[in-house]
Amino acid sequence: MDPKRLSDSLSVSPQLSLDDIHSAAALGYKAIINNRPDGEQLEQPTSAEISAAAKAAGLGYRHIPVVPGEMSDDDIDNFADAIADLPTPILAFCRSGTRSVSLSSLAEAEKKTPDSLIRRAKEAGYDVAGLKPRLEARRHQADNADAVASRNGPAETFDVLIVGGGAGGIAVASSLRKRRASLSVAVIEPSDKHYYQAAFTLVGGGVFDPRKTVRDEARCIPKGVKWIRAAVADFEPKDNRVVLEDGERVGYRSLVVAPGLKLDWSAIEGLPETLGKNGVTSNYQPGLATYTWSLLQDIHRGPALFTQPPMPIKCAGAPQKIMYLACSYWEQEKRLKDIGVEFNNAGGVLFGVADFVPPLMKYIDRYDVALAFNANLVAVDGPAGKAWFDVTEDGETKRVEKPFAFLHVTPPQRAPDFIRDSELADDAGWLSVDQETLRSTFYPNIYGVGDVCSAPNAKTAAAVRKQSPVVVRNLIADFDGQSREAVYDGYGACPLTVERGRVILAEFGYGGKLQPSFPLNPTKPRWLYWLLKVKLLPTMYWDVLFRGREWGAKPPMRQREKAAEETEAKAKVSA
Ligand code: FAD
Repeated sequence: MDPKRLSDSLSVSPQLSLDDIHSAAALGYKAIINNRPDGEQLEQPTSAEISAAAKAAGLGYRHIPVVPGEMSDDDIDNFADAIADLPTPILAFCRSGTRSVSLSSLAEAEKKTPDSLIRRAKEAGYDVAGLKPRLEARRHQADNADAVASRNGPAETFDVLIVGGGAGGIAVASSLRKRRASLSVAVIEPSDKHYYQAAFTLVGGGVFDPRKTVRDEARCIPKGVKWIRAAVADFEPKDNRVVLEDGERVGYRSLVVAPGLKLDWSAIEGLPETLGKNGVTSNYQPGLATYTWSLLQDIHRGPALFTQPPMPIKCAGAPQKIMYLACSYWEQEKRLKDIGVEFNNAGGVLFGVADFVPPLMKYIDRYDVALAFNANLVAVDGPAGKAWFDVTEDGETKRVEKPFAFLHVTPPQRAPDFIRDSELADDAGWLSVDQETLRSTFYPNIYGVGDVCSAPNAKTAAAVRKQSPVVVRNLIADFDGQSREAVYDGYGACPLTVERGRVILAEFGYGGKLQPSFPLNPTKPRWLYWLLKVKLLPTMYWDVLFRGREWGAKPPMRQREKAAEETEAKAKVSA
């Protein structure tokens, strides 16, 4: 069985055997859709047999048989109903999987653009480009129905609409309130809690109170800003509105996109089932940093493995920061030698900015850490204490099994699905923005901030601190018709917690250009920077960034670039 993932809730597969139904349940699928008529091939199990196997495995089941080349609108509607009704994730199958992919694409055509659906299928290994006219027709039909339903436009329209109430969204909302209180601003955010993720490493290292990492979202939303408690499902940028998951539309004059990134746990086989148990942990999962700390205290024998996936990830230093804190603690407890630590990095260098590699190597030597480069975690068996890595050497990739007593995983990361599937994405799926103005490369009244952006900066809250004043100034300049614009220089910071009580403060911009905030050698580990990380930065996050105070973050201004004006002019013409 080789399921291909289309979204978090749906995967597709070629013909399933009865044994595969039990494997599907073991992989975490909750329902099966069968798109094959009975009797197409002799050896094929019947729908009744599959239904019985699904029932025995505790799975939901729907039979929506489709003859190749004869897919009716009723089939598509039945498929849409099945996805809405059945528990997720769902595994749909036919002979090759193509009918299931086609049905799902057509069923979702009302909400997603034809190009995004064709791209999504292609990424899963299926070609549905031939469906484009039908996808367009269904989208058009839905648009017409919506136009009738909402003749007066979206339910509400705001001067500035912000997608995501995390670090970026709240920073922009607060700065906007400070700079131009007359603007109507709304934040769309589904979660009722916000986490100060930058302290998760400290919690995992046992030096920070986890209760100080979380606040109610209601407390973060600035006064005067409306909180729409919902998730965005799609964008309709030509009509200046977004579509919420329940189909409701919200309009804007200017849009700021800040939904962060997606942690792709399920890309590592066996990980979702064992995360938080069997010695497998990750500081990237809110709530699990406390498990990391309890494991560090309990473990007396290794091996202890730490992993880093392919870039880009948020806080590129975090996979090794927790390793240094763990080693420092075990060194203090005189256990380090018995444990044996290994850093498995899918990349080929210890840290992306060369100046910081020599001081980090001193700690690698001091803690006797084994370095495994080009080693990408692909599968985990928690109860058996085994992990598998794809290790590439001289252009050849081999699967290598490693035992562990402790495993800290940094998951693969990608743009959220609704961004990847939208017309605002670049080829890699990230929100396509100009790296200096943070304006969408497609629509001049759309900006991005934070981890979702295509800009090649270090994805950190420190970057958000410098990006949000840029976005806010440029947005207001658009409203006022000003010709000057603010510029983001790619600043990001990574306080590398190399031992309990010492931090190397890596601050750099585009191209790895060092941008130290203090007139001190930035590659030296210091107690002062430890204090900054543990005491000052949390306060700055909650009380400076989240209050719209742009201290030390004033961006350089320049004459608006001709290119941007041309993009704008083109967009106006096409609108
Ligand atoms: P987030 O703060 O993640 O917020 C995104 C928000 O969008 C969330 O609230 C989410 O619910 C919402 N959202 C998602 N989907 C939708 C949708 N469909 N509709 C509406 N809303 C949606 N940074 C540092 O500066 N220094 C550090 O030392 C540091 N260490 C880190 C250590 C770890 C372990 C981790 C995980 C992160 C660390 N970071 C650090 C990175 C930092 O936390 C992020 O870069 C920062 O939070 C990015 O802000 P954001 O607004 O882009 O995303």
